[in-house]
Amino acid sequence: MRYISTRGQAPALSFEEVVLTGMASDGGLYVPEQVPQLSYEELADMAGCSYAEIAFRVMKPYVGGEIDDETFREIVRDAYSTFNHDAVVPLNQLDANHYLLELFHGPTLAFKDVALQLLGRLLDHFLAKRGERAVIMGATSGDTGSAAIEGCRHCDNLDIFILHPHQRVSEVQRRQMTSVQADNVFNIAIEGNFDDAQAMVKASFADQSFLNGTRLVAVNSINWARIMAQIVYYVASAVALGAPHRKTAFCVPSANFGNVFAGYMAFRMGLPVERFVIATNANDILHRTLADNDFSKKELVATLAPSMDIVVSSNFERLLFEAYQRDGDAVAELLERFQHEPSALADAPLTRLREMFVSHSIDDATILEVIREAHQRTQETLDPHTATGYRAAECQRGDPSVPMVTLATAHPAKFAEAVVKAGFPGVPLPPHMEDLLECDEHYTVLPAELAEVQQFVAEKRR
Ligand SMILES: *Cc1c(COP(=O)(O)O)cnc(C)c1O
Repeated sequence: MRYISTRGQAPALSFEEVVLTGMASDGGLYVPEQVPQLSYEELADMAGCSYAEIAFRVMKPYVGGEIDDETFREIVRDAYSTFNHDAVVPLNQLDANHYLLELFHGPTLAFKDVALQLLGRLLDHFLAKRGERAVIMGATSGDTGSAAIEGCRHCDNLDIFILHPHQRVSEVQRRQMTSVQADNVFNIAIEGNFDDAQAMVKASFADQSFLNGTRLVAVNSINWARIMAQIVYYVASAVALGAPHRKTAFCVPSANFGNVFAGYMAFRMGLPVERFVIATNANDILHRTLADNDFSKKELVATLAPSMDIVVSSNFERLLFEAYQRDGDAVAELLERFQHEPSALADAPLTRLREMFVSHSIDDATILEVIREAHQRTQETLDPHTATGYRAAECQRGDPSVPMVTLATAHPAKFAEAVVKAGFPGVPLPPHMEDLLECDEHYTVLPAELAEVQQFVAEKRR
């Protein structure tokens, strides 16, 4: 399997290279050259299989023989053994035909674990094979940092440095990062805001000379392996609900579009999907683009669903590449223009997107109302991100006989502030995490100075 860039200029890469690379040299994102197909029989054969077995079968064509089957099976099994539910991602039936796909049973209680538990192990495998080490650097305001740390803490060939804005992340989120005690995990609290932290990570990727030749790896959602790992739960949940014999609809709380793009890939592989509902909070670029063809940046709004607070959806580029029928030049031109001025999609690509995608956006007041309403109707406590999905799914249903699956992207205990604001007494952490608030914390406070941060990374890496 070869991977090509959405902007058409960067060289094609192998799976191993694409996992280690992240962004393409032409500024684009890598996508598979061909979409592997799952036949009707192959989907039917998955009924009753374990999550790890379905994961192996769905991802195998993307790996393209670059890891032998036995080893890859073992990597996958090991990655999903860290989840605290035997089904890994259980389906929870809410009413006659609406289901929650609970993606939050991993080590950090949000769906990013599904991809990052696998990505850490894949990176470690390829680095060991090459006899190389690598450094991961990332900036986080929330879920990604802790999920990346949990995914890499047992890796022999990786050192991970996660920057977070000092005193500006919630206690649970900070502790999920800083309570990890491992020789290769370094938390840096930056005396600045998230943008300062992000800018230092970007500058470090742009000029990596401070690492004297050691590879710097990105684990944000532009990494193809993250998308690949997320395709699996669309297939597994649809099969559990009757695929390939019947269609499923999915509703996805969205920000950078990695999650829902993975669903689209499952559809392109042959999974029968009726529609995708994109749910957003007040940061609604995806909704504005689909509903009004208003493809423009808007100022960031801090919402009760902070992991969906974005200005630009980085992975939307992968869908645009398909909507523009893989015309890399057209995608590059559109995104170049979009950087500087409000833009719009051409008619034909927009029409193609609207065949499969609808969208819905809600504000904070509605998030609180939905948490109350969903609890009253179903007894479930939703986290604020999942709440955007619950409402969007209700508003944008198509054929009522098609099961609707709303992706529950976080456990409510992780965003208990919003649940309390909605009028509930609070949400206890799951029993296996009860000691989180008492554990020792490990982090270093550094000024928002690039040179100091880079010196720290260069000295501490092993
Ligand atoms: C990251 C995240 C999202 C957004 O996912 P994307 O793949 O960026 O669209 C939604 N909910 C939660 C809880 C998240 O952590």
